[in-house]
Amino acid sequence: MFCPKCKSEYRDGFYKCADCGVDLVAEIPPEPENEVGYVDLVEVYSTYQQSDIAFIKSVFDGEGITYFFEGESSIMLVAGGAYARLLVKAEEVQRAREILQELGFLE
Ligand SMILES: [Zn+2]
Repeated sequence: MFCPKCKSEYRDGFYKCADCGVDLVAEIPPEPENEVGYVDLVEVYSTYQQSDIAFIKSVFDGEGITYFFEGESSIMLVAGGAYARLLVKAEEVQRAREILQELGFLE
């Protein structure tokens, strides 16, 4: 028997993990694969403006939207030329676009 939480192995006769208090299972479920790989990220916006990035971040943080600015670090190094792409999870694209529209970033 195994604890699904801490992965401790228990002898037969144990039904709860002494450390976690959760019910033991006969087999540990397979490790979820790299979660990031499962998340479909969709580009909703791109910008050259460092100030836009900071602003959008603060708004998305407040809205609880999961986002990722690709190329954000390079934009700091390269003045112009490079731009940052705003990526959000597929299921939050709609919400993200609405917010960007409200903020005037999208038409
Ligand atoms: Zn445990």
